[in-house]
Amino acid sequence: AQRLAVPATDLITKLFMKGIAATITQTLDIGTATMVAEEYNVEVEAGEKQEAARKVTEMVGAEDLEYLIRRPPVVTIMGHVDHGKTTLLDSIRKTKVAQGEAGGITQHIGAYHVDVEHNGQEQQVVFLDTPGHEAFTAMRARGARVTDIAILVVAADDGVQPQTIEAISHAKAAGVPIVVAINKVDKEGAQPDRVKQELTEYALVPEEWGGDTIMVPVSAINGDNLDTLLEMILLVAEVEDLSANPDRSARGTVIEAHLDKAKGPVATLLIQNGTLHVGDILVAGSSLGKVRAMVDDRGKRVQVASPSFAVEVLGLSDVPSAGDEFEVFQDEREARAVSDARADDQRQSRLLAAVSSRRVSLNTLSAKAQEGDLKELNLVLKADVQGSLEAILGSLRQLPQKEVQVRVLFAAPGEISETDVDLAAASDAVVIGFNTTLAPGARQAADRAGVDVRDYNIIYKLLDDVQGAMEGLLDPEM
Ligand code: GDP
Repeated sequence: AQRLAVPATDLITKLFMKGIAATITQTLDIGTATMVAEEYNVEVEAGEKQEAARKVTEMVGAEDLEYLIRRPPVVTIMGHVDHGKTTLLDSIRKTKVAQGEAGGITQHIGAYHVDVEHNGQEQQVVFLDTPGHEAFTAMRARGARVTDIAILVVAADDGVQPQTIEAISHAKAAGVPIVVAINKVDKEGAQPDRVKQELTEYALVPEEWGGDTIMVPVSAINGDNLDTLLEMILLVAEVEDLSANPDRSARGTVIEAHLDKAKGPVATLLIQNGTLHVGDILVAGSSLGKVRAMVDDRGKRVQVASPSFAVEVLGLSDVPSAGDEFEVFQDEREARAVSDARADDQRQSRLLAAVSSRRVSLNTLSAKAQEGDLKELNLVLKADVQGSLEAILGSLRQLPQKEVQVRVLFAAPGEISETDVDLAAASDAVVIGFNTTLAPGARQAADRAGVDVRDYNIIYKLLDDVQGAMEGLLDPEM
């Protein structure tokens, strides 16, 4: 109503006439919002949530819009240790990639694709080879957004475990849709329904229970139901409307890189927009190069690589880092200028990080709140025991949240880990510890990433600070 400059009651009446009983604080979905706005001749543009869904297409610019084609989804497998992530990755690869392909050599380049028959067409799904939310969030903390869909593996004989919850938080913080694979259903003692029940506590409700999360019972070891899982991934991909422009020069993200004694720097590049060709001049991180040769995930030499596919590339001058962006340039001079500038940038940001001007802190957030620029205050919360965690969460909910809303991305008992810091870095969040300590390496990680980690041992002090930040009252100098 504010944006449309009409009284809220008008909107409520309009909605009521359409059979929607909305309250004044209710959030409307984009379809309804568009419909209402149209009546006032106002066009609605997709906002934050839609942006989240499109995060991977950030690589796609306005100039590409006319040329977009659908691209395969890029998938990461997450879940608790021993629930079968690695087995699932291997099993899908084994059953879907015909033996004998490329001489039977399986090439591990950090990602692989499989072909799936879907809607009468052969379509592809691309899997990132490094399972786990740690890898996923470490990439995000570096600014890389490569995953379109997360598969959450939960063992049917073990149920929801701490890392399951972490994985859910990490995927949600990134706005990545989750497909659940309930694994090990072949085992005696498997209780898939119990898993579903437990997941409802984390707002993942199966479709058959009226929710919107797809859950597929599978056995990674026997290969049971993997086809269904793959189909469901393609179904979700359809809804996400993943696209890219194959007719432009390529850009994307470095998935893996190493120095090979014989070949020199070798990097696996995930193409996120455009098409990569042998002979292309590119900058990856600050490293300049010309694509000398490309090998795909099946060990085959290729001349071109299309959107969503990963290829191992030879010809870079240095070894870039995983998570670095790469981009192709038409002109070598331009490429050189960009790589020089990036090298300078990297030196500078290392310098800055050393001097440490924090990227996001409770105080900078407070300053933003004072300017009226803060909508959400993101927190990662760790406490000594479940009891104090619940007390804190309960009190946080009581804080007035009109202008600024508190969003707890992840809350768990235990010490503050590097992964917590990565999550905060990737989501512009502050880490709040209550009666807990930092795991080894977490402090350095926080300093490196410019993440504000705060320890408290008095709840009201913690709440005071959070509320102060929301109201823009914290001293910005602190
Ligand atoms: P990760 O830690 O999540 O990568 O788990 P792994 O893939 O290493 O699997 C852990 C253990 O569970 C291994 O011993 C696997 O053989 C076993 N496992 C994985 N999937 C299944 C399954 O579908 N059924 C059974 N019975 N065992 C499985």
